[in-house]
Amino acid sequence: MVNVGTCKFCGQTHIVETHGELKSVKWLNDAASELGECVRARKEIRQRKAHERAEANIETIFEENEIGKILKEGIDAVLESKVDSITVKRDGTTGIIKLSGTGKFKIEKKYTAKAAMES
Ligand SMILES: [Zn+2]
Repeated sequence: MVNVGTCKFCGQTHIVETHGELKSVKWLNDAASELGECVRARKEIRQRKAHERAEANIETIFEENEIGKILKEGIDAVLESKVDSITVKRDGTTGIIKLSGTGKFKIEKKYTAKAAMES
């Protein structure tokens, strides 16, 4: 079964293979946007892949803890340069996300070991 979807960025129509399944108009349009050769479609796909990679890397480094959850919320703000960096601290662990000098998404994890006495 072949259907037609419309690129949500430039309005160009593309034939989309649905493998015999009945798909919603939204699905067809999303699929058509994926096929798009237009600049905006390519930019969006590139940004989404960067977001997915960043999310996977944060999960690798922080697993499912609170620092990782909060940093994941901030991925787009960092990728889109709305903020320079995001720092989250908890129990002596610091997580930082930012863009490196070469524009790569960078994640840092630091531990603060501290000994202090009062008397
Ligand atoms: Zn397009």
